[in-house]
Amino acid sequence: MTDMTSWQHIIRTIGNVMIPPQCPSCHQVVSSDGICGECWSRLKAITTPACVQCGRGFDFDAGVSRCGQCLTQPPDFDRGIAAIRYNAMSKRLILGLKYAWRHDMIHILGRMMANQGASLLHQADWIVPLPLHWTRHFTRGYNQSAELARAAIKAAGVSPKTYRPDLIRRSKRTENQGHKTRQQRRQNMRGAFRLHADNACVKGASILIIDDVLTTGASLSSAARCLKAGGAKEVAVLVVARVG
Ligand SMILES: [Zn+2]
Ligand SMILES: [Zn+2]
Repeated sequence: MTDMTSWQHIIRTIGNVMIPPQCPSCHQVVSSDGICGECWSRLKAITTPACVQCGRGFDFDAGVSRCGQCLTQPPDFDRGIAAIRYNAMSKRLILGLKYAWRHDMIHILGRMMANQGASLLHQADWIVPLPLHWTRHFTRGYNQSAELARAAIKAAGVSPKTYRPDLIRRSKRTENQGHKTRQQRRQNMRGAFRLHADNACVKGASILIIDDVLTTGASLSSAARCLKAGGAKEVAVLVVARVG
């Protein structure tokens, strides 16, 4: 243990005595950093069988690897894993992450992503958080996908050199997609991302994009299209939660 980490440990221990750790979801006091047992039980991990392309969990094993949606209208990313199902519980954790700085939650969610998506994290040449438009980044102060990506990389023990938040940027500020149809979302996201000018490393690379929630996958698909136009061999996505 280096001096820095032992000091951090001491400060943390003193802090825990003075302010005991609380469950980030329900604020009940817990014995160690983490979510309380009751909140844990309401999080539903997506285990196999699941669609290998979009991460959607299957209710039963029909012996297929892709969901109907990916077979008929495949997204532009090739593979995908979601750690948990999007439900009232995971929504609360993710909203807390988006609209309030909850450092404790980032590490919990990062660990979930590392556990479920270890294969994708270890196979990627580059790991890219889905960028926010700079105006949104400016008002929020941080990009939750970037924080999640860093936490997942650390938890999975992947080299931090694979982290490339600058590889793509969001060039178009898109409005809330909540009420739009699938087709409208796709249209809305057209040309929303731009490759970094210095992008030679994209050619032939296997790239993993990280985001918090996958709903229709229109934003992730658009980012994947941009990376593939730059010559990426394969683009995968890893998210905390999958809607539907
Ligand atoms: Zn709780
Ligand atoms: Zn699918």
